[in-house]
Amino acid sequence: MKFYVKEITLRTTSKYQLIDVTSSVEGIVRESGIRNGLCLVFAPHATAAIIANEHEYGLMNDIVNKIKSDFPENGKWQHNLIDNNAHAHLASAFIGASRVFPVINGKLIRGTWQNIFLVEMDGPRSYRRILVEVLGE
Ligand code: ZN
Repeated sequence: MKFYVKEITLRTTSKYQLIDVTSSVEGIVRESGIRNGLCLVFAPHATAAIIANEHEYGLMNDIVNKIKSDFPENGKWQHNLIDNNAHAHLASAFIGASRVFPVINGKLIRGTWQNIFLVEMDGPRSYRRILVEVLGE
């Protein structure tokens, strides 16, 4: 089995932000030369998440608003006694910091309305990373 790893680095410009990384991830899958296997998209961050969904501005705002209502910044979170970002840790823990996609015949498989996003919830940050690891043959 072969594996190929590459990192996407980016900066975020607001507290909450969805950043579409689909074309970067698909480019890494192409570069990998791997035809069949899996592609892991992993953000090594405790206050961000990875999702797959539609790149439509209304929906992207809906996702941010849902995160804000489920994990309110002014909740009575214990972590806020030592830091001020419990909402983002909780959202990251429940949404998840990674997604896995099938790779078949050299292409990452996703639905038409499934773009891959980093979800920033504790921005702005000058340095966020996404690890893309392609495993297979
Ligand atoms: Zn914290």
